[in-house]
Amino acid sequence: MEYQFNAQEQVFRDEVEQFLETELPLDWPEKSMHWPGGYGTMEMSDVDLREIGRQFKRRLAEKGWLTIAWPREYGGREHSYMEQAIFDERTSYYRAPGSGIATGIAGPTILRFGTEKNKRDWIPRIAGGEIEMWLGYSEPNAGSDLSGIQTTAQQNGDEYVINGQKIWSTIAHISDYAWLIARTDPEGHRHRSISLFVVDNNAPGIEMRPLINIAGEHSFNEVFFDDVRVPKDNMICIFTTVRPRPVKSPSGTAITTWKKSPGTWDCRYPGPKGVSKIPSCGGTGCSLEGSIYAITDECLK
Ligand SMILES: Cc1cc2nc3c(=O)[nH]c(=O)nc-3n(C[C@H](O)[C@H](O)[C@H](O)COP(=O)(O)OP(=O)(O)OC[C@H]3O[C@@H](n4cnc5c(N)ncnc54)[C@H](O)[C@@H]3O)c2cc1C
Repeated sequence: MEYQFNAQEQVFRDEVEQFLETELPLDWPEKSMHWPGGYGTMEMSDVDLREIGRQFKRRLAEKGWLTIAWPREYGGREHSYMEQAIFDERTSYYRAPGSGIATGIAGPTILRFGTEKNKRDWIPRIAGGEIEMWLGYSEPNAGSDLSGIQTTAQQNGDEYVINGQKIWSTIAHISDYAWLIARTDPEGHRHRSISLFVVDNNAPGIEMRPLINIAGEHSFNEVFFDDVRVPKDNMICIFTTVRPRPVKSPSGTAITTWKKSPGTWDCRYPGPKGVSKIPSCGGTGCSLEGSIYAITDECLK
C-alpha cells in the first residue's frame, strides 16, 4: 500500500514543521538529547529548560495547538485525527515540550463530565497553557489497581476535606493544581465511590516531600494531605468502573442492568449498530433480550 498525505494534510505538516523550526531554540536538538535524569526530568531540574517549555506552550496555546482537537469554543482547533497524528509525530520527532496532565487528561474529562461552571473555571486556563497539573493517582498501597486507594474526601457542607497520601507525583512541586482521585465513600464498594478532584497546590494542609531518583534528580514527590479543604465544585465526577449484573426479567430473559444511583437503572445492550441505551428503563429494572455488556469507566456527577 502506498500511503500519502492529501494536499491539506501536507500543508498542515509543513506549517507544524515551520513552527517547530522557528519556535524552538537553535540548540534544542542538543539540549533535548541530554535530559539529565531521563523521562520526566527535562523541564523540572533545569530552570532554563523549564522556561523554554513554558514559553513554547504559550506559543502553542496562542495558535490553539495546545488543545488541537478540542472544540473551537473551548480554545481548540477541531483538527482531524490525521492532523492530530501529524502534529504528534512532528512534535515528538523534535522532542518538543507539549501536552501534560492538564491538557491531556483533566481538560478532556472536564469537557466530557464537568458542569458548565467547571468548564468556565478550568477550560480557558487549561487551553491557554496558564496552569500545570500533576497526577494524584498512585499511593503507597495502590498502583496498578487503583481500587486500593485510601485517600479520602469527606463532604462537609460546601467543601470536601481530603486526607491521605500520594506517591510518584511527577512535577507536583512545580505545578499549580492536583488532578486527584480520592475515596468519597469509604464504606462503599472499592471499585466505586472514587471521585476526581481539582486541588489547589497552595491549599493549607498539603505537604510535599521530594523523592530523588537514582540519577540524583528531583522529578517525583510524596504528597501528604492533612484536612485539606476543597470547594465542592472542584469535585468533577465520581469515577466508577462498574460491571453490569445480569438479572432475570419477568419473562425470564437475561438482561443487562446497571444501577446508576439508588432508585434509577440504566440498561444497555449491544445491537447491530453498537451499544444502545434502553430509554424506557426506570424504577427497579428493565428487560430486553440481549447478551451481557460490560460497562466500564463511567463518570457521574
Ligand atoms: C516515570 C513514572 C512516573 C510516574 N508518575 C506518576 C504520577 O505523576 N502520578 C501518579 O499517580 N503515578 C505516577 N507513577 C506511578 C505509576 O503509575 C505506578 O508505578 C503504577 O501505577 C504501578 O504501580 P506500582 O508501582 O505500585 O506497582 P504495582 O501496582 O505494585 O505493580 C507491581 C507489579 O505487579 C504487577 N501487577 C499489579 N497488579 C497486578 C494484577 N492484578 N495482575 C497481575 N499483575 C499485576 C504489575 O504489572 C507490576 O509488574 C509514575 C510511574 C513512573 C514509572
